[in-house]
Amino acid sequence: MTQSKLSFIRKDLLNLSAYVPTPIAKNQRQLTRLDANESPYNLSLELKAKLALFYEQEIETNRYPDGSHFKLKNLIADYINESINIPHFSTNQVSVGNGSDELIRSILIATCLNNQGSILVANPTFSMYGILAQTLGIIIHSINRNEVDFTWNLDTANKVISDSNNPPVKVVFVVHPNSPTANCLTIDEIQWLKNLPSDILVVIDEAYYEFSQQTLVSELPNHPNWLILRTFSKAFRLAAHRVGYAIAHEDIIKVLEKIRLPYNLPTFSQLAAELVLENRDIILPAVKEVMTEKERVYKTLVKNPLFKVWHSDANFIYLRLADNPSNENHDAIMTQLKQENIIIRHTGGGLRISIGTVTENNHLLDKLANFSKKVHQ
Ligand SMILES: *Cc1c(COP(=O)(O)O)cnc(C)c1O
Repeated sequence: MTQSKLSFIRKDLLNLSAYVPTPIAKNQRQLTRLDANESPYNLSLELKAKLALFYEQEIETNRYPDGSHFKLKNLIADYINESINIPHFSTNQVSVGNGSDELIRSILIATCLNNQGSILVANPTFSMYGILAQTLGIIIHSINRNEVDFTWNLDTANKVISDSNNPPVKVVFVVHPNSPTANCLTIDEIQWLKNLPSDILVVIDEAYYEFSQQTLVSELPNHPNWLILRTFSKAFRLAAHRVGYAIAHEDIIKVLEKIRLPYNLPTFSQLAAELVLENRDIILPAVKEVMTEKERVYKTLVKNPLFKVWHSDANFIYLRLADNPSNENHDAIMTQLKQENIIIRHTGGGLRISIGTVTENNHLLDKLANFSKKVHQ
Protein backbone atom coordinates (compact mmCIF):
# COMPACT_ATOMS: atom_id res chain seq x y z
CA MET A 1 0.00 0.00 0.00
CA THR A 2 1.28 3.47 -0.73
CA GLN A 3 1.57 5.85 2.19
CA SER A 4 -1.23 8.06 0.93
CA LYS A 5 -3.65 5.16 1.16
CA LEU A 6 -2.63 4.72 4.79
CA SER A 7 -4.14 8.10 5.62
CA PHE A 8 -5.85 6.60 8.68
CA ILE A 9 -2.42 5.93 10.23
CA ARG A 10 -0.69 8.64 12.28
CA LYS A 11 1.91 10.25 10.02
CA ASP A 12 4.62 10.17 12.69
CA LEU A 13 4.39 6.37 12.80
CA LEU A 14 4.96 5.79 9.10
CA ASN A 15 8.63 6.76 9.32
CA LEU A 16 9.36 5.35 12.75
CA SER A 17 12.16 2.80 12.90
CA ALA A 18 11.25 0.07 15.35
CA TYR A 19 13.57 -1.99 17.52
CA VAL A 20 15.03 -4.67 15.26
CA PRO A 21 15.88 -7.83 17.16
CA THR A 22 18.52 -10.08 15.59
CA PRO A 23 16.65 -12.47 13.27
CA ILE A 24 16.94 -15.98 14.64
CA ALA A 25 17.77 -18.59 12.05
CA LYS A 26 16.67 -22.18 12.58
CA ASN A 27 20.20 -23.25 13.48
CA GLN A 28 20.47 -20.72 16.30
CA ARG A 29 22.03 -23.34 18.58
CA GLN A 30 25.06 -23.32 16.29
CA LEU A 31 25.45 -19.57 16.72
CA THR A 32 27.49 -17.85 19.38
CA ARG A 33 24.82 -15.36 20.42
CA LEU A 34 26.38 -12.48 22.29
CA ASP A 35 23.95 -9.79 21.17
CA ALA A 36 21.09 -9.59 23.67
CA ASN A 37 22.69 -9.75 27.15
CA GLU A 38 20.71 -12.84 28.06
CA SER A 39 22.07 -15.43 30.45
CA PRO A 40 24.15 -17.94 28.47
CA TYR A 41 22.51 -20.71 30.49
CA ASN A 42 19.26 -22.42 29.65
CA LEU A 43 17.01 -23.42 32.54
CA SER A 44 18.11 -26.85 33.85
CA LEU A 45 16.26 -29.91 32.61
CA GLU A 46 15.16 -30.55 36.17
CA LEU A 47 13.44 -27.17 36.44
CA LYS A 48 12.01 -27.49 32.94
CA ALA A 49 10.57 -30.85 33.91
CA LYS A 50 8.87 -29.22 36.89
CA LEU A 51 7.42 -26.57 34.62
CA ALA A 52 6.26 -29.21 32.15
CA LEU A 53 4.58 -31.09 34.97
CA PHE A 54 2.75 -27.90 36.04
CA TYR A 55 1.60 -27.54 32.48
CA GLU A 56 0.38 -31.11 32.31
CA GLN A 57 -1.30 -31.30 35.69
CA GLU A 58 -2.24 -27.83 36.87
CA ILE A 59 -2.81 -25.47 34.00
CA GLU A 60 -6.36 -25.28 32.72
CA THR A 61 -5.76 -23.89 29.26
CA ASN A 62 -9.44 -22.92 28.99
CA ARG A 63 -9.09 -20.51 31.94
CA TYR A 64 -7.67 -17.00 31.88
CA PRO A 65 -4.44 -16.43 33.82
CA ASP A 66 -4.46 -14.99 37.35
CA GLY A 67 -4.87 -11.33 36.43
CA SER A 68 -3.79 -10.24 39.92
CA HIS A 69 -0.39 -12.03 39.71
CA PHE A 70 -1.01 -12.83 43.38
CA LYS A 71 1.58 -15.53 44.01
CA LEU A 72 4.24 -14.01 41.77
CA LYS A 73 3.98 -10.59 43.41
CA ASN A 74 4.38 -12.16 46.84
CA LEU A 75 7.53 -13.95 45.74
CA ILE A 76 8.89 -10.76 44.18
CA ALA A 77 8.25 -8.80 47.38
CA ASP A 78 10.15 -11.49 49.34
CA TYR A 79 13.01 -11.36 46.87
CA ILE A 80 13.31 -7.57 47.16
CA ASN A 81 13.08 -7.64 50.95
CA GLU A 82 15.92 -10.14 51.04
CA SER A 83 18.27 -7.54 49.56
CA ILE A 84 17.66 -4.81 52.14
CA ASN A 85 18.27 -4.46 55.88
CA ILE A 86 14.76 -3.61 56.95
CA PRO A 87 12.17 -5.56 54.90
CA HIS A 88 9.24 -3.31 54.12
CA PHE A 89 8.03 -4.03 50.59
CA SER A 90 4.64 -5.58 50.05
CA THR A 91 2.72 -6.67 46.97
CA ASN A 92 0.99 -3.31 46.56
CA GLN A 93 4.37 -1.79 45.69
CA VAL A 94 4.90 -4.24 42.82
CA SER A 95 3.47 -4.37 39.31
CA VAL A 96 4.28 -7.16 36.86
CA GLY A 97 4.53 -6.69 33.10
CA ASN A 98 4.98 -8.66 29.91
CA GLY A 99 8.66 -7.86 30.04
CA SER A 100 9.81 -4.54 31.47
CA ASP A 101 9.05 -3.18 28.00
CA GLU A 102 5.34 -3.30 28.84
CA LEU A 103 5.97 -1.43 32.08
CA ILE A 104 7.98 1.25 30.26
CA ARG A 105 5.02 1.76 27.94
CA SER A 106 2.57 1.94 30.87
CA ILE A 107 4.82 4.48 32.61
CA LEU A 108 4.83 6.63 29.45
CA ILE A 109 1.05 6.40 29.11
CA ALA A 110 0.62 7.30 32.79
CA THR A 111 2.89 10.34 32.69
CA CYS A 112 3.27 11.91 29.27
CA LEU A 113 0.48 10.97 26.88
CA ASN A 114 -1.64 13.73 25.30
CA ASN A 115 1.22 16.18 25.33
CA GLN A 116 1.22 16.21 29.14
CA GLY A 117 4.92 15.50 29.46
CA SER A 118 8.21 14.75 27.75
CA ILE A 119 11.03 12.39 28.74
CA LEU A 120 14.75 12.84 29.27
CA VAL A 121 17.39 10.21 28.44
CA ALA A 122 21.17 10.29 28.04
CA ASN A 123 22.61 8.49 25.01
CA PRO A 124 23.87 5.96 24.40
CA THR A 125 21.26 4.11 26.46
CA PHE A 126 18.54 1.45 26.18
CA SER A 127 16.70 2.32 22.99
CA MET A 128 13.23 1.18 24.08
CA TYR A 129 12.50 4.33 26.12
CA GLY A 130 12.80 6.46 22.99
CA ILE A 131 11.13 3.99 20.65
CA LEU A 132 8.10 3.45 22.90
CA ALA A 133 7.82 7.20 23.52
CA GLN A 134 7.80 7.78 19.76
CA THR A 135 5.02 5.26 19.21
CA LEU A 136 2.95 7.28 21.67
CA GLY A 137 3.83 10.63 20.13
CA ILE A 138 5.78 11.67 23.22
CA ILE A 139 8.65 14.15 22.93
CA ILE A 140 12.11 12.80 23.81
CA HIS A 141 14.91 15.02 25.02
CA SER A 142 18.17 13.18 24.59
CA ILE A 143 21.50 14.50 25.73
CA ASN A 144 24.89 12.92 25.11
CA ARG A 145 26.82 11.19 27.84
CA ASN A 146 30.40 12.23 28.59
CA GLU A 147 32.51 10.20 26.19
CA VAL A 148 35.22 9.42 28.73
CA ASP A 149 33.17 7.45 31.24
CA PHE A 150 29.58 7.68 29.94
CA THR A 151 28.38 9.65 32.96
CA TRP A 152 25.50 12.10 32.58
CA ASN A 153 26.31 15.67 31.77
CA LEU A 154 24.25 17.00 34.69
CA ASP A 155 24.48 20.70 33.77
CA THR A 156 23.08 19.94 30.34
CA ALA A 157 20.37 17.77 31.90
CA ASN A 158 19.38 20.55 34.31
CA LYS A 159 19.24 23.02 31.44
CA VAL A 160 16.97 20.73 29.38
CA ILE A 161 14.66 20.32 32.37
CA SER A 162 14.43 24.04 33.09
CA ASP A 163 14.03 24.95 29.40
CA SER A 164 11.32 22.44 28.55
CA ASN A 165 7.95 23.74 29.60
CA ASN A 166 5.72 22.76 26.76
CA PRO A 167 5.34 19.96 27.68
CA PRO A 168 7.64 19.77 30.71
CA VAL A 169 9.97 16.85 31.42
CA LYS A 170 7.91 14.38 33.47
CA VAL A 171 10.16 11.31 33.39
CA VAL A 172 13.93 10.80 33.58
CA PHE A 173 15.10 7.32 32.56
CA VAL A 174 18.39 6.07 33.98
CA VAL A 175 19.85 2.58 33.79
CA HIS A 176 21.89 1.14 36.68
CA PRO A 177 24.17 -0.18 35.16
CA ASN A 178 23.54 1.38 31.76
CA SER A 179 23.13 -0.54 28.52
CA PRO A 180 25.08 -0.53 26.23
CA THR A 181 27.90 1.17 28.18
CA ALA A 182 27.81 -1.06 31.34
CA ASN A 183 28.50 1.68 33.91
CA CYS A 184 26.58 2.10 37.17
CA LEU A 185 25.23 5.44 38.34
CA THR A 186 27.86 7.54 40.13
CA ILE A 187 27.41 9.07 43.57
CA ASP A 188 26.97 12.48 41.90
CA GLU A 189 24.30 11.14 39.57
CA ILE A 190 22.42 9.50 42.44
CA GLN A 191 22.59 12.77 44.37
CA TRP A 192 21.24 14.59 41.33
CA LEU A 193 18.33 12.13 41.10
CA LYS A 194 17.60 12.71 44.79
CA ASN A 195 17.44 16.45 44.19
CA LEU A 196 15.13 16.31 41.20
CA PRO A 197 11.76 17.98 41.84
CA SER A 198 9.03 15.61 43.01
CA ASP A 199 6.90 16.35 39.92
CA ILE A 200 9.40 14.37 37.84
CA LEU A 201 9.23 10.58 37.89
CA VAL A 202 12.66 8.98 38.13
CA VAL A 203 12.78 5.55 36.49
CA ILE A 204 15.81 3.50 37.52
CA ASP A 205 16.14 0.46 35.28
CA GLU A 206 17.96 -2.28 37.19
CA ALA A 207 17.73 -4.97 34.52
CA TYR A 208 21.30 -6.05 35.39
CA TYR A 209 20.99 -5.86 39.18
CA GLU A 210 21.88 -9.50 39.77
CA PHE A 211 25.17 -8.98 37.91
CA SER A 212 26.10 -5.57 39.32
CA GLN A 213 24.77 -6.28 42.85
CA GLN A 214 23.99 -2.58 43.03
CA THR A 215 20.47 -1.44 43.75
CA LEU A 216 18.66 1.66 44.91
CA VAL A 217 15.60 -0.15 46.33
CA SER A 218 16.45 0.89 49.89
CA GLU A 219 16.12 4.54 48.76
CA LEU A 220 12.58 4.10 47.42
CA PRO A 221 10.79 4.91 50.72
CA ASN A 222 12.61 8.27 50.83
CA HIS A 223 11.70 9.11 47.24
CA PRO A 224 8.04 8.54 46.35
CA ASN A 225 8.77 9.86 42.82
CA TRP A 226 11.20 7.01 42.09
CA LEU A 227 10.39 3.74 40.36
CA ILE A 228 12.69 0.75 39.90
CA LEU A 229 12.40 -1.65 36.97
CA ARG A 230 13.68 -5.21 37.06
CA THR A 231 13.37 -8.18 34.73
CA PHE A 232 13.48 -11.97 34.60
CA SER A 233 15.00 -11.79 31.10
CA LYS A 234 18.64 -11.64 32.17
CA ALA A 235 20.13 -13.36 35.26
CA PHE A 236 16.97 -15.45 35.81
CA ARG A 237 17.24 -17.01 32.33
CA LEU A 238 13.62 -16.35 31.34
CA ALA A 239 13.92 -14.09 28.29
CA ALA A 240 11.63 -16.50 26.43
CA HIS A 241 8.86 -15.95 28.97
CA ARG A 242 8.70 -12.12 29.00
CA VAL A 243 8.35 -11.13 32.64
CA GLY A 244 9.44 -7.84 34.21
CA TYR A 245 8.38 -5.90 37.29
CA ALA A 246 8.23 -2.41 38.71
CA ILE A 247 8.75 -1.44 42.34
CA ALA A 248 7.44 1.93 43.53
CA HIS A 249 5.14 3.77 45.93
CA GLU A 250 1.74 2.06 46.00
CA ASP A 251 0.00 5.10 44.51
CA ILE A 252 2.19 4.87 41.37
CA ILE A 253 1.68 1.11 41.23
CA LYS A 254 -2.11 1.56 41.40
CA VAL A 255 -2.00 3.68 38.25
CA LEU A 256 0.22 1.21 36.39
CA GLU A 257 -2.22 -1.55 37.34
CA LYS A 258 -5.08 0.48 35.86
CA ILE A 259 -3.27 0.85 32.56
CA ARG A 260 -2.05 -2.68 31.96
CA LEU A 261 -4.16 -5.19 30.07
CA PRO A 262 -6.09 -7.41 32.50
CA TYR A 263 -4.43 -10.67 31.44
CA ASN A 264 -1.05 -9.32 30.37
CA LEU A 265 0.94 -12.28 31.62
CA PRO A 266 0.23 -15.82 30.38
CA THR A 267 -0.19 -18.50 33.06
CA PHE A 268 2.87 -20.37 31.83
CA SER A 269 5.06 -17.29 32.18
CA GLN A 270 3.75 -16.60 35.68
CA LEU A 271 4.55 -20.18 36.66
CA ALA A 272 8.03 -19.94 35.15
CA ALA A 273 8.79 -16.71 37.05
CA GLU A 274 7.46 -18.22 40.30
CA LEU A 275 9.59 -21.31 39.72
CA VAL A 276 12.85 -19.39 39.20
CA LEU A 277 12.21 -17.23 42.26
CA GLU A 278 11.53 -20.30 44.38
CA ASN A 279 14.73 -21.83 43.04
CA ARG A 280 16.90 -18.72 43.04
CA ASP A 281 19.43 -20.47 45.29
CA ILE A 282 20.10 -22.85 42.41
CA ILE A 283 19.88 -20.36 39.54
CA LEU A 284 21.61 -17.20 40.73
CA PRO A 285 25.02 -18.59 41.76
CA ALA A 286 25.84 -18.89 38.02
CA VAL A 287 25.92 -15.08 37.94
CA LYS A 288 29.33 -15.35 39.63
CA GLU A 289 30.66 -17.52 36.80
CA VAL A 290 29.43 -15.00 34.25
CA MET A 291 31.10 -12.15 36.11
CA THR A 292 34.37 -14.10 36.40
CA GLU A 293 34.21 -14.66 32.66
CA LYS A 294 33.47 -10.98 32.14
CA GLU A 295 36.68 -10.11 33.98
CA ARG A 296 38.65 -12.57 31.84
CA VAL A 297 37.15 -11.33 28.56
CA TYR A 298 37.71 -7.72 29.65
CA LYS A 299 41.37 -8.32 30.53
CA THR A 300 41.98 -9.96 27.17
CA LEU A 301 40.17 -7.30 25.15
CA VAL A 302 41.93 -4.46 26.96
CA LYS A 303 45.24 -5.85 25.69
CA ASN A 304 44.03 -5.77 22.09
CA PRO A 305 45.30 -2.47 20.62
CA LEU A 306 42.53 -2.51 18.05
CA PHE A 307 39.92 -1.56 20.67
CA LYS A 308 39.06 0.97 23.31
CA VAL A 309 37.27 -1.01 26.01
CA TRP A 310 35.22 0.34 28.92
CA HIS A 311 34.96 -1.03 32.45
CA SER A 312 31.79 -3.07 32.98
CA ASP A 313 29.53 -3.58 36.00
CA ALA A 314 27.27 -5.89 34.01
CA ASN A 315 27.27 -9.12 31.98
CA PHE A 316 28.37 -7.37 28.80
CA ILE A 317 31.26 -5.27 27.56
CA TYR A 318 31.19 -2.09 25.51
CA LEU A 319 33.99 -1.21 23.14
CA ARG A 320 34.84 0.88 20.14
CA LEU A 321 37.59 0.74 17.58
CA ALA A 322 40.55 2.73 18.88
CA ASP A 323 41.15 4.33 15.47
CA ASN A 324 38.34 5.45 13.19
CA PRO A 325 35.39 4.27 15.27
CA SER A 326 32.97 4.90 12.40
CA ASN A 327 29.70 3.07 11.83
CA GLU A 328 31.13 1.48 8.69
CA ASN A 329 34.16 0.10 10.52
CA HIS A 330 32.03 -1.24 13.36
CA ASP A 331 29.67 -2.79 10.83
CA ALA A 332 32.64 -4.44 9.15
CA ILE A 333 33.57 -6.12 12.42
CA MET A 334 29.96 -7.26 12.90
CA THR A 335 29.98 -8.75 9.42
CA GLN A 336 33.29 -10.53 9.90
CA LEU A 337 32.13 -12.00 13.21
CA LYS A 338 28.85 -13.05 11.63
CA GLN A 339 30.78 -15.05 9.06
CA GLU A 340 32.23 -16.91 12.02
CA ASN A 341 28.71 -17.43 13.43
CA ILE A 342 29.23 -14.91 16.20
CA ILE A 343 26.50 -12.34 16.75
CA ILE A 344 27.14 -9.16 18.75
CA ARG A 345 25.31 -5.81 18.78
CA HIS A 346 26.32 -2.57 17.09
CA THR A 347 24.65 0.20 19.05
CA GLY A 348 25.26 3.68 20.41
CA GLY A 349 28.28 4.19 18.18
CA GLY A 350 30.09 1.11 19.47
CA LEU A 351 29.96 -2.64 19.93
CA ARG A 352 28.22 -4.37 22.80
CA ILE A 353 29.31 -7.92 23.52
CA SER A 354 27.36 -10.10 25.95
CA ILE A 355 29.29 -12.56 28.10
CA GLY A 356 28.56 -16.15 27.06
CA THR A 357 29.78 -19.54 28.20
CA VAL A 358 33.54 -20.15 28.44
CA THR A 359 33.45 -21.85 25.03
CA GLU A 360 31.52 -18.99 23.43
CA ASN A 361 33.82 -16.38 24.93
CA ASN A 362 36.88 -18.26 23.70
CA HIS A 363 35.34 -18.44 20.24
CA LEU A 364 34.88 -14.67 20.27
CA LEU A 365 38.32 -13.87 21.70
CA ASP A 366 39.99 -16.15 19.15
CA LYS A 367 38.38 -14.35 16.25
CA LEU A 368 39.05 -10.89 17.63
CA ALA A 369 42.71 -11.79 18.24
CA ASN A 370 42.95 -12.75 14.57
CA PHE A 371 41.56 -9.35 13.56
CA SER A 372 44.23 -7.66 15.56
CA LYS A 373 46.96 -9.76 13.89
CA LYS A 374 45.60 -8.93 10.48
CA VAL A 375 45.57 -5.23 11.23
CA HIS A 376 49.12 -5.20 12.59
CA GLN A 377 50.74 -7.31 9.88
C1 LIG B 1 17.33 -6.30 28.66
C2 LIG B 1 16.85 -5.04 29.26
C3 LIG B 1 15.56 -4.96 29.79
C4 LIG B 1 14.66 -6.15 29.79
O1 LIG B 1 13.51 -5.94 29.08
P1 LIG B 1 12.38 -7.08 29.12
O2 LIG B 1 11.29 -6.44 28.35
O3 LIG B 1 12.05 -7.30 30.56
O4 LIG B 1 12.95 -8.30 28.48
C5 LIG B 1 15.15 -3.77 30.35
N1 LIG B 1 15.98 -2.71 30.42
C6 LIG B 1 17.23 -2.77 29.94
C7 LIG B 1 18.11 -1.59 30.04
C8 LIG B 1 17.69 -3.93 29.33
O5 LIG B 1 18.92 -3.96 28.84
